[in-house]
Amino acid sequence: MQELKCDVSEATAIVDRATYVSQYRDVATFEACCRQCPNYGNRWGCPPFDHDTLGELMQYERVLLVGIKIAPRDRKLPMDRVYDIMRPELERANQRLIELEHQCHGMAFGFVGKCPHCGDEPCARRDGKPCRHPDVVRPSLEAYGFNVSLTASQLLGIDMLWSSDGTVPRYLTLVCGLFFNGPDLQWSF
Ligand code: SF4
Repeated sequence: MQELKCDVSEATAIVDRATYVSQYRDVATFEACCRQCPNYGNRWGCPPFDHDTLGELMQYERVLLVGIKIAPRDRKLPMDRVYDIMRPELERANQRLIELEHQCHGMAFGFVGKCPHCGDEPCARRDGKPCRHPDVVRPSLEAYGFNVSLTASQLLGIDMLWSSDGTVPRYLTLVCGLFFNGPDLQWSF
């Protein structure tokens, strides 16, 4: 398939965990949205979770937030190309998240949607089995109840766009994060 040329830019912010949890997390609202999704209960990165998610977050003092804007140069792409457009940045960002998570012993949050690590094989969660790739699979911020659109607009200066006519909007936005303790983290390298 022809390579999709895109212009990519990033924004980052470091916010204290207490503020981020109190002002940007609304589990009831976002879990209700997740329940409408076929991945709910069927992917290991998705809710419901069988552990204390707030307790996990409380172990960390701060969160690094990253917004990635991906603007395809072709302005007339159909929406079924979204994953092709995002994939290179998804893979790059996921790899960087895991590197930083190891570096600071933090907790990374990746992306919603298709889990790329098992190909076309159904997620092992459907059979009640453990994740086949727990080293690289992380939940999204949405899955833990965070308002990603508000995060993007208020903390990263990115207004997320959605399609209104079946074509890809002017740019797509990925938002990920890493809860951590200790000195500032550097996202770019
Ligand atoms: S890596 Fe495979 S088993 Fe793990 S969450 Fe993704 S699809 Fe499920």
